[in-house]
Amino acid sequence: MANVSAHVTTTSATGAQRTIVVVEDEVSIAEAVALRLRSEGFIVAVAHDGPSGVALCERLAPDLVVVDLNLPGFDGLEVTRRVQRERHVPVVMLTARDGETDLIVGLAVGADDYVTKPFSPRELVARIHAVLRRVVAAESETPLRLPPTLVHGDVVLDPSRREALVGETVVHLTATEFDLARWFLSHPKVVFTREQLLRSVWGYADGSGERTVDSHVQAVRKKLGSDFVRTVHAVGYGLGPVSSSAATQAT
Ligand code: CA
Repeated sequence: MANVSAHVTTTSATGAQRTIVVVEDEVSIAEAVALRLRSEGFIVAVAHDGPSGVALCERLAPDLVVVDLNLPGFDGLEVTRRVQRERHVPVVMLTARDGETDLIVGLAVGADDYVTKPFSPRELVARIHAVLRRVVAAESETPLRLPPTLVHGDVVLDPSRREALVGETVVHLTATEFDLARWFLSHPKVVFTREQLLRSVWGYADGSGERTVDSHVQAVRKKLGSDFVRTVHAVGYGLGPVSSSAATQAT
């Protein structure tokens, strides 16, 4: 069994050991990754193809999934889609190709980070710790503690009051607009497809109504600034960059 490690992120908020599922068809890589993660204090389970990876995730409900992009059965993008159908599970994707397209596509289906082969186990572990730290920060947002105020340039969202400010001005957002803006602010590095936004923000399972997303994005831009949401061509939407003047004001 795994060693207890000093790393805070190998245990959850309740102190339980964190579980990681590794889905990788190259057995030597899978074993090296599993070995390293176990030595870091994680509980690790390994699958070697897409379908058994998804089955393993359904059984174990892991805290994080490491998935190879190219897999037998179905690929890492499909694995990510399926394991995230019920709940958001952090995913770190392994990819043999360093193309930007793969990166965008991988992040668009919900991967939190990616590592390009060949990689060192140490590098992968560092990425995993970073992703889990972000999850821990999100987990701390319990009803007992007020959710943190989200700041992006001169835009401030206060989830406890469901209030938005642009500079000093209070801006009225509808409930959906607020949730959409909050979603982008809570996942600043991720580009989402319209379908994912419908699932995550609206709670729609079937992905219909993509024009709904477009109209709400337009409304959010009108109220919080045109740069607040960026369009990623042929993929979807993500949080926009902080303009330099706004960044200066915020500090
Ligand atoms: Ca592979």
